[in-house]
Amino acid sequence: MDCLFCGIVAREIPATVVHEGPRTLAFRDLNPQAPTHVLVIPKDHHATAAALADADPAYAGEVLAAAAAVARMEGLDSGYRLVANTGDDAGQSVSHLHWHVLGGRVLDWPPG
Ligand code: 5GP
Ligand code: ZN
Repeated sequence: MDCLFCGIVAREIPATVVHEGPRTLAFRDLNPQAPTHVLVIPKDHHATAAALADADPAYAGEVLAAAAAVARMEGLDSGYRLVANTGDDAGQSVSHLHWHVLGGRVLDWPPG
């Protein structure tokens, strides 16, 4: 399978890794939309949060816990946003679940 984020997990594609767990990886987004913009992924390939929650709910929880750890490490004490774009209408461009951790500024709501 040709998956960009599986390539990052395999260290075939370089990324700035900020957090790693046994089954999770977190790295900085190449095109940051906020002062902190980190992507948190399961190392195993699952297309969406729903797919992972169906396949392995505990693993889905691990990925969320990793996102929370990243927010703490990045000092996002005044708030942050977790986003998992899912499917075409949401603009999901990589079919490997990734939680965006966004923070470090006041975030607009609703998003555009
Ligand atoms: P999506 O649009 O699927 O929700 O998010 C995909 C994210 O991956 C985008 O924010 C994009 O900037 C980021 N991205 C795309 N290619 C790369 C890459 O090669 N390395 C990193 N670190 N981020 C990437
Ligand atoms: Zn993948």
